[in-house]
Amino acid sequence: MRAAVIAADRTLEVAEADDPAPGPGELVLAVKGCGICGSDLKVVEHLPIGYTLGHEFSGEVVAVGADPVGDWNTGDAVCALPLVGCGRCQFCWDRLPVHCPHSEMIGTGTRPGAYAEYVAVSSAQTFRLPEACGYDVGALVEPMAVGLHAVDSAGIGAGDNVLVVGAGPVGLAIALWTRHVGARSVVVSDPVAVRRDSAADFGATGVIDPATEELGPAFERLAGVPPDVVMEAVGKPGIIQSCIDVAAHRGRVAVVGICSGPDPIIPVLASLKELTMTFPVYYRHQDYAHTLAMIEQDRINPAPFITHNVDLDGLPSAFEAIKSPTDQCKVMVRP
Ligand SMILES: [Zn+2]
Ligand SMILES: [Zn+2]
Repeated sequence: MRAAVIAADRTLEVAEADDPAPGPGELVLAVKGCGICGSDLKVVEHLPIGYTLGHEFSGEVVAVGADPVGDWNTGDAVCALPLVGCGRCQFCWDRLPVHCPHSEMIGTGTRPGAYAEYVAVSSAQTFRLPEACGYDVGALVEPMAVGLHAVDSAGIGAGDNVLVVGAGPVGLAIALWTRHVGARSVVVSDPVAVRRDSAADFGATGVIDPATEELGPAFERLAGVPPDVVMEAVGKPGIIQSCIDVAAHRGRVAVVGICSGPDPIIPVLASLKELTMTFPVYYRHQDYAHTLAMIEQDRINPAPFITHNVDLDGLPSAFEAIKSPTDQCKVMVRP
């Protein structure tokens, strides 16, 4: 098959790769959609040359391995968690495959990802796409599940005043779910004008340009009170402290952005406010199920996330372009 793999100069190149064969309990999908994720731009720098990225995907079942979990047939339209757990530990039983000590990650390090014509997945982590959900939206279930799990981890509910720091796809997914669960204020902060403009499409009740306005006073101007909840969706040093600084006393801060370097904070400033901080990662199995149910019932519409479409041959240049984003939100690859 053809796949976009990591080249020696840390760009992507389209190359021939081995066709995946389904192991026990696995399915092979013909990839129909795969989103480019901001985290791919970071991990491409240190994963092995020749590795295939891509973890936000949908596809059509083309092969079923021995003893699958569930009733799967070729031709089924599906999406799947990009995780393969052992199936035999407490975390797998709790449907939290990300915490399985033997968990393998599709497209983020261990198993080949979906920037390819075919990808192998765990049948236990696969979901049938509802009629209303095409392959493009099916590939958006992964980033939507990230947002849902983050909103859940922060306990956001009716009446909360919420600040979302960062309007990339994850920040916007958080804004959408924050609106969905009935928050009073959904204020999104981002220095990029086009991202602020799109925030309203995903439920923002107000936006802040942190380059021209201080976060705390700007939020209070819009919401009347400091934020009960601050959702960090940037992943750069210094942002967590700014979230602590603006959060209300007894408020919550959820750190969703991925930051792999040191990031000093002044803990006493969080203590004096008695803040609760959470560090959600990935999602639970049921976050996929709930996202698909809300799409099927037309209660959320993630389709506007997709701003660009490319095929496999167009992926390497689209991948470079997104390193200095202009108007891209989610770029969808259709191998
Ligand atoms: Zn992602
Ligand atoms: Zn396990």
